[in-house]
This record gives sequence, C-alpha cells and structure tokens, in this order.
Amino acid sequence: MFFVIGINQGQKDLNYSAVIRCGSCGSYSRVQLFVVYSQLLLFFIPTIRWGKRYYVKMACCGSVYELAREKGKQIENGMTADITPDDLVLVQGGRQASVIYCNNCGRELDRAYSFCPYCGEKI
Ligand SMILES: [Zn+2]
Ligand SMILES: [Zn+2]
Repeated sequence: MFFVIGINQGQKDLNYSAVIRCGSCGSYSRVQLFVVYSQLLLFFIPTIRWGKRYYVKMACCGSVYELAREKGKQIENGMTADITPDDLVLVQGGRQASVIYCNNCGRELDRAYSFCPYCGEKI
C-alpha cells in the first residue's frame, strides 16, 4: 500500500456579479471574484483546502485586488455582501495608467476628475 500525496494551488470562480468603482482607473466596472487556495491531493483528489485568499478582478482595466477575507467568506457562503473600496487592496495594477491627459489643454490629470481643473474641458 502506498500513498500519492501532492499539494497544488486551486482557483475557483465564485460567480459574483456586482459593479464596483475601480480605484485604479476610476470607472465603474463589473468584477470577477475568485478564491485561490492550497489543496492537499490524495491520489490526485483534492481533500483538504487551506490558505484561502479572495481576489477581485476588474473588467475595466484588469486590475486585481485582494478582498478582505471575511467578505470573501460571506460571499462564498451565499450571503449578500457588498464589496466596498475599503475591502480591497490593490495587488496588481491594470493596463491603464491612473493618469490621463486633457484633450483641450494637454495637461496631466487624475482620472477621478470629470472636468479639467485647468481649462474646464469635460473629460
Ligand atoms: Zn479599472
Ligand atoms: Zn484642460
């Protein structure tokens, strides 16, 4: 009798749908919530899972945030929980920079603005 034991990383999409304001690019975006965990494989069958971490991926710019663990658990267990910016910690920035340029005067602006503070142009 012998045992085949291994450890690998699993990932599961939690099918959570919500629209959250992205802290990276400032737009409101749909998110994808997934959980990443380590799992012990016994004869190639996952048995124990531990070290769960929850991540949110923004559809807008591809930024990835780690979600507060308690919130992640609640959502995984089917409870309604709203994800707020306080629950998120940026782990990987998106492909869009947080800085944009005004079409009218060409100055560097933060994406959070909806009007250029220098010339009043709508962004
Ligand atoms: Zn974004
Ligand atoms: Zn301007």
